[in-house]
Amino acid sequence: MRDILLLKCPRCREGNLFDGAAYNPKHIINMPQQCHKCKQPFFLEPGFYYGAMYISYALNVGIGGMITFFIWWLIWEFDIDYLVKSAFITTGLLILIFPYSLRLSRSMWLYLFYKGKATFYSEHDKIDIGKGDGGY
Ligand SMILES: [Zn+2]
Repeated sequence: MRDILLLKCPRCREGNLFDGAAYNPKHIINMPQQCHKCKQPFFLEPGFYYGAMYISYALNVGIGGMITFFIWWLIWEFDIDYLVKSAFITTGLLILIFPYSLRLSRSMWLYLFYKGKATFYSEHDKIDIGKGDGGY
């Protein structure tokens, strides 16, 4: 869980899943092809991260719903006139955390398909092991 939140490689848990700062618009989804530490490929197939949109949607609806609820409860004590105002404040907060939530949804998606070291090798890794220089 900690490594998912810190956006680390699912195999070595040391390499970063993303290059560059999250809040730099040019680097929001700047993902290397493979881990800098262990060479684990991050793109398992073409269009692999389209599925992360479902995670992103669920994440934002879940977090947004909870934030709206707490703002509405803590500030306006469930006064129905302020529900829309709570939702607008939540929307602003979700926009602020958007770069991280996008990266987090990709991290969760990759970890979802990580089945352990034995079944997560690419063809490149199998060749390395055959030559005896893989070390995995
Ligand atoms: Zn790695």
